[in-house]
Order: sequence, then C-alpha cells, then structure tokens
Amino acid sequence: MIWNVDAETMGTGERRALQSQRLAETVRWTTERVEFYRRRVQKPVARLEDLATLPFTRKSDLREHYPFGLFAVPRTELVRIHASSGTKGKPTVVGYTRADLDIWREVMARIMVAAGARPGHTLHNAYGYGLFTGGLGFHDGGERIGMAVVPVSSGNTARHHLLLQDFRPEGLAATPSFALHIAESFAAAGGAPDSLGVRYGMFGAEPWTEAIRAALERAWGCPAYDVYGLSEITGPGVAGECEARDGLHVTDDHFLPEIVDPETGAPCGDGVQGELVLTTLTKRALPMLRYRTGDITALTSAPCRCGRTSARIARLKGRADDMLVIKGVNVYPSEVEAALLAVEGLEPHYQLVVDRRATLARVEIHVEPSGGAHDADALRTLITDRLRTAIGLSVDVHLAAPMSIPRSEGKAVRVRLIDSSP
Ligand SMILES: [Zn+2]
Repeated sequence: MIWNVDAETMGTGERRALQSQRLAETVRWTTERVEFYRRRVQKPVARLEDLATLPFTRKSDLREHYPFGLFAVPRTELVRIHASSGTKGKPTVVGYTRADLDIWREVMARIMVAAGARPGHTLHNAYGYGLFTGGLGFHDGGERIGMAVVPVSSGNTARHHLLLQDFRPEGLAATPSFALHIAESFAAAGGAPDSLGVRYGMFGAEPWTEAIRAALERAWGCPAYDVYGLSEITGPGVAGECEARDGLHVTDDHFLPEIVDPETGAPCGDGVQGELVLTTLTKRALPMLRYRTGDITALTSAPCRCGRTSARIARLKGRADDMLVIKGVNVYPSEVEAALLAVEGLEPHYQLVVDRRATLARVEIHVEPSGGAHDADALRTLITDRLRTAIGLSVDVHLAAPMSIPRSEGKAVRVRLIDSSP
C-alpha cells in the first residue's frame, strides 16, 4: 500500500517541475517576509539548478534569532510551537500554521504506511510527548491514517508492558534505545516481547546501526524501520524506509534534499557521502533555505523496487557534530556501536567515555556482558582487537555489571565526555 500514489510515484520530470515551482515560491515567500533572508538572498530563484546559489541556514541562526526571528508569519497564524531541549543554551523554537501541520500529518502518514501501518491498526506510541516533535508527530500521522493511537509516551516501562500485553498493538513507535529497554525489561520480568504480536516497529530520533536493527528485530520478532526527521524541518516525516529497506525515501515534494561537502559546502554528486542539507518547499511558518542538518549520509535517485520514485538517503552514519576526534583520529560513535554489537555475548547497551582532562584524550568503553559464564580477559581482548580494527584506536575496555549501564527512556546518551570544566 502507498498512502499518496500521485505524490509518491510521480515521474522524474513531473517531480522536478513541482520542486522547481515550489522552490521559487518558497524563496519569494522567505525574502518577502523574513529580514534574515531578505538581507542574504541576492536574486530570485527560478529553477532547481539555482539552489546552490542560495545561502545556507544553520542551527546557530535559529539560536541567534531566538525565539521567533526567522518566522515568516505573525504569531496569530501559528497553531503549534515546538522546541528543542536546549541542552547547549537556548532551545531552538519551531512553529507551524494549520497548513504546515496538515503537511506534517501527510508526510508522517506516507512514511508510516511505507513501514506497514494501516487504517484500523493500533499504534503504541512510545516517543516522548511534549516540546519534542517525536510524540506528536507519530500521533498525528497515526490519526491521519485512521489508526487507534495509544499516546503512552516515554518513561514508566511497567505501564508499557501492561498496555502492550492488553492492547496488542500492530505498530510500535519509539526511539531505538527505548524500544530495546522496553523489550529487555519485559523479558527480565518474565515476559516474551516477541510474542506480543507487534508487526512493525518505527524507530528514529537517534542514529542507529544495522546491529541495533538486528537486536530490535530479535527482541520484538518483527521488522524494524528507520524514520528520519528533525524539528527544524518539520519533525519526523522527512524520510523513512519502505519494505525494501534500501535507504530512506525523502518526502521530497515537501523537503528538498542535497548533499554537500561538510568542509567546503560544495554540492556532492549522487551516491557521494556528505552532509545532508534540506530546503522546505511548502512550509509557511518557518521556511528553511538550505538548512545544514549536520547529518552525514548519501543521496540516490535510483529507482526503488517498492515503486516510489522519491530520492532516498542512506541510513545515517551520525551527525557531523557527534564526530569525536580522539588522538587525532575521527571516530563516529556509530562505528564503535557496529563493532561492539558484532561481538557475541554483549548486551546492546554501551557507553563511550572520553576523558579530555589530559593532553591526549583517554577513551574507555563500558560494555555489559550478557548473563552466563564468560572469560572476562578473553572478552576484553576480543573487544579491544575488534575496536582497533574498526576505528584504528586502542580503547580501554571496562566490563560493567548486569543492568548497570543507564537505559534510555528517550534519546540514548552513548558518549560521555569528561572535560576539565565542571
Ligand atoms: Zn522503496
């Protein structure tokens, strides 16, 4: 089933014409209404080919114009405001008109249907509700499809166990780390998460590897689908996997993707890895021209066997700003994760502790052996070897006691940095 056949399977020429027309309209809309863009956009844009002439927008621009400085409509036209958690200072604030919310629901419906959601299904929505866009994004998408949405939110795992057992939802939506935590704690309480009848899981809001996918599918006994989005663009619904699970389809009649070199900003060709940049094509309250997502991926426009014709992005490698430089080596936490989870006998939970107090950062990896007997020295040596091969670094391995690594009830914190400042 395809939610919106016209939009999701249109021909290349038709798609490009629509994108061109909407891009020109968006540039006109932003330059007429937002001082920030009026100052920076030199000339009108008429074609897709002109995209690269537009300036980038960065997260810092949102912070500098906190809270509403980049908005293109008066506040009386807003019907919803979300915000980031603002762990590094002021939150980034995003807003929606009624039409913006309609589009958000539409793209969520497309992506959820691609993962198996159907009218009449029940959705267990374990994304956090609140200022974070995950909870309400899936909520609205599920209602648009005609699902019975259970807005259970994150936290309180005992309640999740009860409702999953008693409501028997077909669909599960959560961050991958929290979904693992629900399954693990359910199993520890004597339950069998893979016998609950969940038929598909939709996971996102943090980068996750194929190894985590395998762990999720084993735990829940159903396929795990990747969903991508960010609040600055709309929230979840920017891209998602279909049954082919060969990249994430971008809802590119609403959000135009391009890949640029993260250092120089120069556009990259099809299949070349770089930073994902997105331009909103239909948003009215907070339109974004060439927003630097910081996410590292590659783009392909090759046909997909599901029949959808939109561009696809590869699963994320991580964010450019998540990349750690340790002893001069570039390390993505996702590479560490892939190497760790390939080791037999480890739980899918870990923490990378980077101590930056010395001149040369010290790295310790905390892992949890699964229950049962294991040879601690052999396990430590095996993990050290695997990590050296994967990331080219020697890392101290610390075997943690069962259940001692913090489980996430929202977005997982995999990296702990210890700096000299408190
Ligand atoms: Zn597909």
